[in-house]
Amino acid sequence: MLLPHDTALPAAAGPGERRRGMTGGNDRQVGPRLVDDVAHRIRRDILSRGWPVGEIVGTEPELVERYGVSRAVVREAIRLVEYLGVARMKPGAGGGLLVTAPDETAVSTAAMVFFAYRGVGADEVLEARAIIEERAAELAARTAPQEERDALLRRLADHTGRPGNEPWIEMHAVLAGMSANPALELLTRILVQVTDWYAASGRRSHAQVQRDRRTATEAHRRIAEAVAAGDAPAAGAATREHIERITTNLTSRRGRRTLTFGDMSSGKAAAKLASVIAAEILTDIIDQGWEVDRHVGSELTLAARYDVSRAVVREAVRLLEFHQVVRTRRGPGGGLFVAMPSVDAAAESLAIHLDYEGVDTTALFEVRSALELAIVERLAAEADPGSIGELREALQSHRRASGKPGLAIHGWHGQLAEHAGNQAVWFFLLALMRLTEQRGRQPDPAMREWVDREHVEIIDAIGAGDVALARRLMRDHLEQVRPVVRLLGPTAQRAPGAPAKSAPIDTLFSNR
Ligand SMILES: [Zn+2]
Ligand SMILES: [Zn+2]
Repeated sequence: MLLPHDTALPAAAGPGERRRGMTGGNDRQVGPRLVDDVAHRIRRDILSRGWPVGEIVGTEPELVERYGVSRAVVREAIRLVEYLGVARMKPGAGGGLLVTAPDETAVSTAAMVFFAYRGVGADEVLEARAIIEERAAELAARTAPQEERDALLRRLADHTGRPGNEPWIEMHAVLAGMSANPALELLTRILVQVTDWYAASGRRSHAQVQRDRRTATEAHRRIAEAVAAGDAPAAGAATREHIERITTNLTSRRGRRTLTFGDMSSGKAAAKLASVIAAEILTDIIDQGWEVDRHVGSELTLAARYDVSRAVVREAVRLLEFHQVVRTRRGPGGGLFVAMPSVDAAAESLAIHLDYEGVDTTALFEVRSALELAIVERLAAEADPGSIGELREALQSHRRASGKPGLAIHGWHGQLAEHAGNQAVWFFLLALMRLTEQRGRQPDPAMREWVDREHVEIIDAIGAGDVALARRLMRDHLEQVRPVVRLLGPTAQRAPGAPAKSAPIDTLFSNR
């Protein structure tokens, strides 16, 4: 499958427009919005301070001064970052904007919304899962301590045999944790949640449910045994087989799937209601398959439809706008319209979260290698002359655009992923590439030269349909690039005392 693609802007308008029949152009922002901008700046500033959970980063007057905007704008921006689980206002003496541990469900929601808007199928999501979890299982078998591997088998045995024969679904996250790679862990947790969402409303017969449960439990046992035996190839193969089985079970299901905007349990009642209404509006848009630019309603009609005040609608809309899923137009015929969130924004959210989780360069490249070997394998196996030609063209334009900052020369990897045709894999790779670019140094001319040469060799192997060679060249190439990226290290360190597995940063989409 050949996807629409722009060689000049590797990370911009992506493959997903097909479902909504877009012709491009709608990915662009509606215009600079001061409140959004201040909210983004607050988030970036908190990240650059190492996400100091529990610390006050400024009083309201200080924020007014720092961002050079009015008090009203600062107050609205604070409401947004409160929604995003970034920080909250602590009142009283010694109060101010208090940094909070972000909420992970928010990142999963961001991924789900992005997938839903782009029409990403369950098969694409599960292929991404197979790639990620296969690598995690291999690493767990190869590197986890023997006691931990034995414990996995024991926990599985404890779980099996409980009433209801429910398979031990938490095993996926536990196994990913045994890989000791926080990026593999985070992506597994996100993908498991996304799979749940795809599966949520499926109706199956009792007999079918029982059969699926038995099959899953049997698969889990095979995986755990291979891991306990330290047999990495068998653990990887059993994991892939299990996830491919889930794929066939899922693809036939359909129904209303409800989204939530993170965990609002600590928020005020009015804020909670606004976030519930935002989720309702979003679910309706996705459920009805409404196209970009479709009129959703005016403030008045939405207040009536969802049976809430106009103030609540206004706040819900603010949240939706921030995530780029709707936009408002004033004047006659105005109101709320469906918009398309950009892949850049969604990938940025995930990148910031990976940074917060303390993903180092080794972990980052472990996941890149898993995804990118799968990408070149797919491309070489299906060597399509049109795609190959475009990818060669893209290399040419990267060569002409000299002076690109950082490792932007590797933007070409994003184009490879785009041509491979899996939007979930493409999305995850873009997030990982962002971290690579943020951490890498400026390439000198010598580096540009060897990078360019290796890119040419990779596309030659793909063009020749040589899967094994393409994989080997990509693996070697990533090995070459990794030490360059390592020089700068993570952009943010987890603050001491901050919870390891909790939340992230932003919840949904950012604007850039
Ligand atoms: Zn399973
Ligand atoms: Zn490269």
